[in-house]
Amino acid sequence: MSKNTAGAAVYPNLLAPLDLGHMQLRNRAIMGSMHTRLEMEPDGTRKLAAFYAARAKGEIGLIITGGCAPNAAGLVEPDAPILDHPSQTAELARVTDAVHEEGGVICLQILHSGRYARQEDCVAPSAVRSPINRFNPRELAPEEIERTIDDFVRCAGLAKEAGFDGVEIMGSEGYLINQFTVTRTNRREDDWGGSVENRHRFPVEIVTRVRQALGKDSILIYRISALDLVEGGATGDEIDALAQMVETAGADILNTGIGWHEARVPTIAYMIPRAVWRFAPGRLKKAVTIPVVASNRINVPEIAEDVLAAGDADLVSMARPLLADPDFMKKARIGKAGSINTCIGCNQACLDYIFTGRTATCLVNPRACRETEFDDGPSKMPRKVAIIGAGAGGLACAAEAAARGHRVTLFEAADQIGGQLNLAKTVPGKAEFNEMLRYLEGRLAEGGVDIRLGARATPEDVLAGDFEEIIIATGVRPRMPAIPGFDRQNVISYADLLSGKKTAGSRVAIIGSGGIGFDVAEYLCRSSDMSGSEFLSEWSVDPKIEQAGGLMESSTGDGAAPCEITMLQRKESRPGAGLGVTTGWILRNGLRRHGVRMLAGVTYESIDDDGLNITLGGDPKTIACDTIVICAGQDSNRDLYNELAGKDVKLHVIGGAKKAAELDAMRAIDEGVRLAQEL
Ligand code: NAP
Ligand code: SF4
Repeated sequence: MSKNTAGAAVYPNLLAPLDLGHMQLRNRAIMGSMHTRLEMEPDGTRKLAAFYAARAKGEIGLIITGGCAPNAAGLVEPDAPILDHPSQTAELARVTDAVHEEGGVICLQILHSGRYARQEDCVAPSAVRSPINRFNPRELAPEEIERTIDDFVRCAGLAKEAGFDGVEIMGSEGYLINQFTVTRTNRREDDWGGSVENRHRFPVEIVTRVRQALGKDSILIYRISALDLVEGGATGDEIDALAQMVETAGADILNTGIGWHEARVPTIAYMIPRAVWRFAPGRLKKAVTIPVVASNRINVPEIAEDVLAAGDADLVSMARPLLADPDFMKKARIGKAGSINTCIGCNQACLDYIFTGRTATCLVNPRACRETEFDDGPSKMPRKVAIIGAGAGGLACAAEAAARGHRVTLFEAADQIGGQLNLAKTVPGKAEFNEMLRYLEGRLAEGGVDIRLGARATPEDVLAGDFEEIIIATGVRPRMPAIPGFDRQNVISYADLLSGKKTAGSRVAIIGSGGIGFDVAEYLCRSSDMSGSEFLSEWSVDPKIEQAGGLMESSTGDGAAPCEITMLQRKESRPGAGLGVTTGWILRNGLRRHGVRMLAGVTYESIDDDGLNITLGGDPKTIACDTIVICAGQDSNRDLYNELAGKDVKLHVIGGAKKAAELDAMRAIDEGVRLAQEL
């Protein structure tokens, strides 16, 4: 570790070490547990070791692994990680060795899924099925509960043998332990259910016996559900009582989780105000004397510092921000926080990938969980490279190529870089896209990229530059479907609206209900990002946690949109069905609260003075509207590519210019970075 501590003056709390008595953490940032699915890949241990070692090298204070089941019934899904036999420790030691070699500290998270296990034989305190799992759980018999506790203890002992510095007992997010603690899922009438004391017995026994097994020198973290966000969840007083008992039982650190997986309140996506949940660890800090960790939507060092300085927590946990930038803490320490690649909370390549059975990665950092596929060294043959188009793909390609030593010229027709990202960042709740632009702009400056703004590059411009590699990243154009009347003044594209070139009237029809159709509806419904209190009110969250689950009885935040909005699509499927698994429901719920109408299975007939004429279910209908916004997808902009094709140049095409269908920033960035690696 270099001696540069320029960041210490700016982030004194975040960069302060933490003395646990038996171990020191170098700062107050934890990489929170996240299931990556890397273990399930061929050569998974090597990949996992490289993944965590990169984060240790980047100076994170403590790493907590993705959840590892203590027994077969606790597996999240059939092939998920499990640690239940001594024969497994040597393999796992490759991970702990790699982290220790980089000066890191790593704990294994022990997670029993209970009724969330996606397998036939799932178990729970009571036979109450989860709304997000098709499998019915079986009630655990008392002797099985005892055996499960033993399994936690055995798993912790094996983790120690494998070189882990400690364990985290996963007691939040609605998994087995959390299922024991509340009446929603615990209907037992024996020693393990009924009174609060009985419902808390399972976690307290686990912590007590795990501490006995580990001895004093290992870290024992308990992750408590600081806010359940489900009906029949715990009250603040019950949570405090559990926290105190867990401390007495031997936990060193109290990590916090916010919301069960089945909660109908969003907790970590981009539209949730940063650090909005800080009140929950803040409350717990008053109940215990051990360090408390704040988590969820803490993605930049300023926010982390603010949470710590205000006394709402002693440590902060960041999982996705460490996917986005393994060097987060190192950059904060050496005074280069401005060059952190910030997690934008999109969930697209991490949670959405995991929930659809793919290995996680990161939209803004294609290297995440793919560390072994990339070469970070300089190019063996630096070249003169032209990149045309400064959207997400072009920017990522330029930054990466310059970092590898190529001399890069970036042409952009607009007077600013960013392309479609400039539209995305105007959508309320999507301000995080500004961070992506800030990061990429910084990397261009660092790499000395020659940026030519405000001039559409012609084939002559490009050929005159004597470039050895030419990369076309000219992106897409909004598709304007040929509906009779589509050339009327009141028919506008999403780009016209979101760029502020045109405005919409008070009755709006949106043609196309894909990602951009939803963005446009959101833009029309809200004038700005939600504040923390607006968000909590809209989703009926009680920040005092007086009611069970921290939910208020009814929302006070519902409101009609400032205009009347109808979204349409030709497909019969549910509008928004193609949106991200973890974000689509939030957007659909939000728009419904604002009274947005969604029509599927329509045929567009014409546009006239009365509005948009359609056929729906065989009947003609007119959607009376002042403005029609077209969000009907995009077509590739390949003009320059076509003009240069066949010339004696080395030509490449990436992103939307290559293929417009299903284009998003993730594919564009991945293609840009990977092409730059090949140059
Ligand atoms: P999209 O998601 O593919 O949606 C295009 C919409 O236009 C669909 O509703 C489609 O529905 C309709 N459409 C297609 N061709 C049409 C035609 N000829 N006439 C009338 N309607 C037509 O594309 P997008 O909304 O432009 O988004 C672009 C990309 O960005 C997508 O990959 C999207 O996932 C991503 N994105 C995601 C988000 C998010 O997840 N929050 C936000 C923004 C963008 P029908 O064919 O059924 O009519
Ligand atoms: Fe963050 Fe999106 Fe990357 Fe996930 S994919 S880590 S949410 S930027």
